[in-house]
Amino acid sequence: MLNRCLALGLLLSAFTLAGECRAQQRPPNILFLFSDDLTCQAISAYGDKRQLLNTPNMDRIGREGMRFDRCLVTNSICGPSRATILTGKYSHLNGFYNNSNSRFDSSQQTFPKLLQRAGYSTAVIGKWHLMSDPTGFDYWQILPGQGIYYNPPMNDQGKPVKHSGYTTDVITDLSLEWLKNRDKSKPFLLMSQHKAPHREWAPAVRHLGWDKDRQYPEPETLFDDYQGRSKAVSDHDMGLDRTFTDLDAKFRPSPNMTPEQLKAWNAYYEPRNDAFQKAKLTGKDLVRWRYNRYMHDYLACVKGVDENIGRMLDFLDSEGLAENTIVICSSDQGFFLGEHGWFDKRWIFEESLRTPLLVRWPSVIKPGGVSSNIVSLVDFAETFLDVAGVPIPADMQGHSLLPLFKGQTPTDWRKSLYYHYYEFPVPHRVRPHYGVITDRYKLIHYYKPDVDDWELLDRQADPLEVKNFYSDPAYAETVKELHAELDRLRKEVKETDPPPRAAFGNQAFEGEQLPAKPGAKKE
Ligand code: CA
Repeated sequence: MLNRCLALGLLLSAFTLAGECRAQQRPPNILFLFSDDLTCQAISAYGDKRQLLNTPNMDRIGREGMRFDRCLVTNSICGPSRATILTGKYSHLNGFYNNSNSRFDSSQQTFPKLLQRAGYSTAVIGKWHLMSDPTGFDYWQILPGQGIYYNPPMNDQGKPVKHSGYTTDVITDLSLEWLKNRDKSKPFLLMSQHKAPHREWAPAVRHLGWDKDRQYPEPETLFDDYQGRSKAVSDHDMGLDRTFTDLDAKFRPSPNMTPEQLKAWNAYYEPRNDAFQKAKLTGKDLVRWRYNRYMHDYLACVKGVDENIGRMLDFLDSEGLAENTIVICSSDQGFFLGEHGWFDKRWIFEESLRTPLLVRWPSVIKPGGVSSNIVSLVDFAETFLDVAGVPIPADMQGHSLLPLFKGQTPTDWRKSLYYHYYEFPVPHRVRPHYGVITDRYKLIHYYKPDVDDWELLDRQADPLEVKNFYSDPAYAETVKELHAELDRLRKEVKETDPPPRAAFGNQAFEGEQLPAKPGAKKE
């Protein structure tokens, strides 16, 4: 064994820092299959009772590996989640707070840089959305900004290129091409990152009408009246009743289609749109129509992602790479599929707080594992470094999931997580809020600019999260404990108080000071 270690050490001198000879021949490949706004309710492995969609390929990753049931984000929005994944740090430390005016400081420490330095071949292909160019990658090709769904222009390491086809397929084609031509003397990190199923939820032509005009079961809270809740919750701009645009409704086609694609598109949508116009729906009937249109489109996008994940898994099988490749299927946050009357994300509520995490690594993870521990995107960088045998920098804020992969939950594993969302007032009028999340409770503070409200959610008593127990005397002790825990977490994560003005985005708003420190109970 000693000789084997020495030989391996010479062969992979870059990995000598790892200080450990692992059972496998060399550090694992890391295949990160990432989607934008993909939520657990749309993945059959998570068993949503509406049974919205069958996702056999994502399910396969969970079945052959481990499903994490409570992977939580720290700031439920695209760019900030991506910055947290790369750095292992909260927004206030990595500097990327919002999608409005944040720009990722690409000179800072990231896990791809550390893996590259340790001898990994590294690539990112697809959606990036961090404003600055990627660093720490041997190869990158990214969508500019949000990207588009059809025939996407992309940025190939600084050079503009154009592609034909549906973006989810294109990103997979490019990912497979990179894998085929990679430097096979090294382990790889490939971050293959889809745009889908981001708004405007434009399906591939082959998936138009995939659901045969199904009428979808509704979430219990489709017509949430927000009674007894903070003004922050009711005064939103992300409701199916008020925010649904012509592009969302597909009264306008998605941009940049070829005449052939557009023809197929119109053949599906036009007769249905005509019927809608004739029906002159209002009120709840209008919301119901929008909900069904939204589900057709969003779920078709997820179907496209699932098929393409299948192509990636097939490639690993055909190349004999499956055994020593850790496959991660995840998203930058969850998403509302009509719950509380919403689409979009941002909130600390469960649908947007929780993100999918399915992990397969046959040489380490036993098939069929399920973990209900609170894990987070802030753990990803630490995990990837740990599985590669690379030391985890002390300034990263999460914890490696490697023990959980092995079925061993450390006795001191976190029992709570800190959350902070900033971007306001555009695009969806979700007020800044922070809070603490435990297995059962959430203590939330809406603090800006015209609210100073605390809410206590009890997921055991109220799984739909429609009641505020903060002022209920029966919860007085719980409120006190959670305030103490929130104070502790804010210190632990080195929270900035108050956040810099730029944290909230470009749109100026008045009422600058951060009122009521945690623990200062509202009268
Ligand atoms: Ca997103």
